[in-house]
Amino acid sequence: MIGFESTTVPRKPLQQALISVVLPLYNEAVVLRTLHKRVQEALEQCGCRYEILFVDDGSTDGGGEFLDQLAARTPAVRVIHFSRNFGHQAAVQAGLEHAAGDAVVIMDSDLQDLPEAIPDFVRLWTEGYDVVYAVRHGRKENGLKRMAFYGFYRMLNAVARTPMPMDAGNFGLLDRRVVQEIAALPDRDRYFPGLRSWVGFRQTGIAVERGKRHDDRPRVTLTGLFRLAKTALFAFSSFPLTMFYGIALVSMLVCGGVTGFTLYHKLVTGLAIPGWASMTMLASFFGALNALGIGILGEYAIRIYDQVRARPQYIISRRTNVPVGDSRRQQ
Ligand code: UDP
Ligand code: MG
Repeated sequence: MIGFESTTVPRKPLQQALISVVLPLYNEAVVLRTLHKRVQEALEQCGCRYEILFVDDGSTDGGGEFLDQLAARTPAVRVIHFSRNFGHQAAVQAGLEHAAGDAVVIMDSDLQDLPEAIPDFVRLWTEGYDVVYAVRHGRKENGLKRMAFYGFYRMLNAVARTPMPMDAGNFGLLDRRVVQEIAALPDRDRYFPGLRSWVGFRQTGIAVERGKRHDDRPRVTLTGLFRLAKTALFAFSSFPLTMFYGIALVSMLVCGGVTGFTLYHKLVTGLAIPGWASMTMLASFFGALNALGIGILGEYAIRIYDQVRARPQYIISRRTNVPVGDSRRQQ
C-alpha cells in the first residue's frame, strides 16, 4: 500500500456524484452482454449516478455494433470507437479523457477484473482516498506467466524512481483530480499503473481476486506484454543506462588483471603465453557488452523520437452518446 498524504477535498454526497466506468476492449463481443449486466448491477448498489464508457479499440468481431445498439436503448452507456487497433494503454487514455465522472473506474473487459469490487472502491473514495487500486491475488494464468509477472513487479520496484505497489494493474478508481492530472501528462509511451503512482495524492490498495479470462485467448499478446514491460522499465528508470557504469568498472578491473598477468610473464618470467582461446573469449564478451549498450541507448532514442514526433495516441472514428468535442468533459 502506498499512502501519499494530501489535502482531502470534501466529496459530493454519493447520490449526487457521477461515477464513470471505463472499459477498453478489443474483440470481446461474446462477453459484452454479461459484462454490462454485472457492471450495471455493481453500480446500482453504489446508490450514485453512473455512466459506462466502452472504448472499442478497433474490434472486428461485431462487438462495436452490439455496443451501439446497447447505447441506443441505454443512455448511461457511451461508446468511443477507434479507427483501428491502437492498443490497451491508448484505450485507457481515451477513457480518461472522455469520462465525465467525479470518480472514474478503469477495468478490463474480459471479466478478469471483477465488477463486484466497484462498491468497495467507491466506499473508500467517499472516505477520502483519491486512488483505490486492486492488488491482484489468486491469479489464474499459467505458472510461467505468473512467475514472469511476479518477477516483473519486483524487478521494476527495485529500479524505478517512483515506488509502485506490487501486483497492481490497471483496475482501480481515480478521483476526478487524479484523472485530469494523468490525462494531461504528455507521455506518449504510457504505462498506466506507473503514471498513477507517479501523480501521488492519497492512494490505497485493496486485495481483489483476479478472475479467469472468459476465453483462453488474451488480446494483449506476449510481444505486447513484453513491450509494456519495456515501457515500464525505460519510462520509470534510468537504471539500464547507469548500470553500464558498473559494467565498465568491472570490465576495467578484468582488463587490468589480464594486462598485469601478461606483462608479468612477458617481462619477468619470459614465458610465452598461449592465449588464443582466452583472447577470443574476452574479445567476443566485450563485443557483446558493447552491442547491449547500444541496444539500450536505442530504446531510449526510440522513445525520444516517438515523443518528439508527437503523433496522437489514438484516432476516434465514431462516438455514441459521447458528444463531439467533449474531450475532458467537465461536470
Ligand atoms: N485490449 C484492448 N486493446 C488491445 C488489447 C487488449 O483494448 O489491443 C483490452 C482487452 O479487450 C481487455 C484488456 O485490454 O479488456 C486487457 O487485455 P487482456 O485480457 O488481453 O490482457 P491481460 O489480462 O492478459 O493482461
Ligand atoms: Mg485479461
